[in-house]
Parts: sequence; C-alpha cells; structure tokens
Amino acid sequence: MSSSLKSTRLQETKAEILSLLNVLSDKVDLERKFGANYLQLSPIRKIYTSSEEDVTSPLLKPRTDTHNERIKVELSKSEKIKELKKLEKQVKQCTKCELCKGRTNVVFGTGAPDADLMFVGEAPGHYEDVQGEPFVGRAGQLLTKIIESIGLKREEVYIANILKCRPPENRNPNANEIALCTPHLIKQIEIICPKIICALGTFAAQTLLDTKETIGKLRGKFFEYQGTKLLATYHPAYLLRNPNDKKKVWADIKKVRDFLKEGTS
Ligand code: SF4
Repeated sequence: MSSSLKSTRLQETKAEILSLLNVLSDKVDLERKFGANYLQLSPIRKIYTSSEEDVTSPLLKPRTDTHNERIKVELSKSEKIKELKKLEKQVKQCTKCELCKGRTNVVFGTGAPDADLMFVGEAPGHYEDVQGEPFVGRAGQLLTKIIESIGLKREEVYIANILKCRPPENRNPNANEIALCTPHLIKQIEIICPKIICALGTFAAQTLLDTKETIGKLRGKFFEYQGTKLLATYHPAYLLRNPNDKKKVWADIKKVRDFLKEGTS
C-alpha cells in the first residue's frame, strides 16, 4: 500500500473515532442529565481542547467546587469564544428533531462568553425565530429590565434556551425535543462555566433539575446543576400575564445578585 493511501486511511479512521467519541459524549451527558447514569465516570476532570490534541493550556484555570463531583477546568475567554463559535456552527446545522423544518433561524444564544450569570429560558418565540436571538420580544424587554435591576447589562450575562428552534404556534416543548436539544445547552453551559444559572420558568427549571416539581415550588431556592449554582424563577412571559408576581421575581433575582456579590447562597 502506498504511503499516501495509508495516510488517507489513517485520517479516515481518526475521523471515525472522533465522531464516535462525540456521539458517546452526547449520550453520557444526556443520560446523566436524565438520571440514567449507565456509565460511572466520576470524578471527571474535563479539559476542553481546541483541536484533536489534548492541550493542557496554561490559560486554563481550574475551578473546583466542593458540592460537585466534577472538577471543572475553565477556559480562557478567547478559548470560550472559539468553542462557542464551533458549537454554534454545529447547532445551526442540527436536524435532530422535527422543529428544524419550521424554523427561520436557529436561536443559539447570546451574551458574554465568560458570563458569571447565565439565563436559561424555554424556546424561541416568533420574534426570536425571525431575528435569531433569544428574548427579543416583550418578554425579552422585561428580562432586560430584570437584568438591569441588579446592576448588570444584558451583554454582560449569557442568555439561551432549552430549545434552539421555535415550536409551532409557540406550543410547549415536548419530551422528545427537550431530550434531543438539551445536549446543545449542556455543552454551552460547560463552555461558559457561569457561577450561577437562573432558570426561567417551568421547562427550564424542570429540565435542568430533572424534576416534575412546579415552578411555584422550585423558585427562589438555590440548587446545584452539575456543580453550578442554579436558582429558578418565573419566566418573563408569565410575568406579563401575572404582573402581581413581579415582586417574587424581584426577591429571587436579589438572591442571584447577592450570590454574585458575596459568593454565598
Ligand atoms: S430544536 Fe434543537 S434538536 Fe431540534 S432541530 Fe433545533 S437545534 Fe436540533
């Protein structure tokens, strides 16, 4: 066999192994997320790589968490930008569920790649689908006010949804769509590595906390999501319909602000 043929075969095998590893990694993430931890992989030392090689960059800053079995290795800002771009490119081509057929845009997420605070909502609505950005309608304007109420700017946090494509007529996401789309969000969270996640509404809170408990019971309390603090509150769209509950969200978001300031919950 000629050396060029050998080298092509070698490259093909390498690509196949990498693709299998990616599938396996998605599967493990998903199984863990849904509590079906068939593969025991703890503790995990996760190191992100920007290429096929395992690069232990001196820029990586370990962030340990006593409540977490994972030891996180945080990327530098430029590495986060690069990894998010790579992920966004993949998600934009995603056709894993039927929602890809009706979308105008994939709504990947927006904000600071190294944000301390990450908001996770449900799914894009009409305006988000048209503009390709999460939380741009009336609910989005309210979210911006909520963010500003704790002294932050919208561009200083990161905002994403559980689903990246709009469900028709803004119906609720179904279990299959959530299961297929959540691995994208899990990767986003791993790259951004926020100090705290604020889950907005029932679907985000129930999905990330793997529970069927109502948002009324989940809101305002600190939880852990894979070693990251998580606090759930009402979705801004719910607040537009139930303005009397704004004070509850204000109380919740103040807890987030205090956590970011003091590092304690
Ligand atoms: S909703 Fe998620 S899983 Fe479904 S096609 Fe869009 S990106 Fe893919």
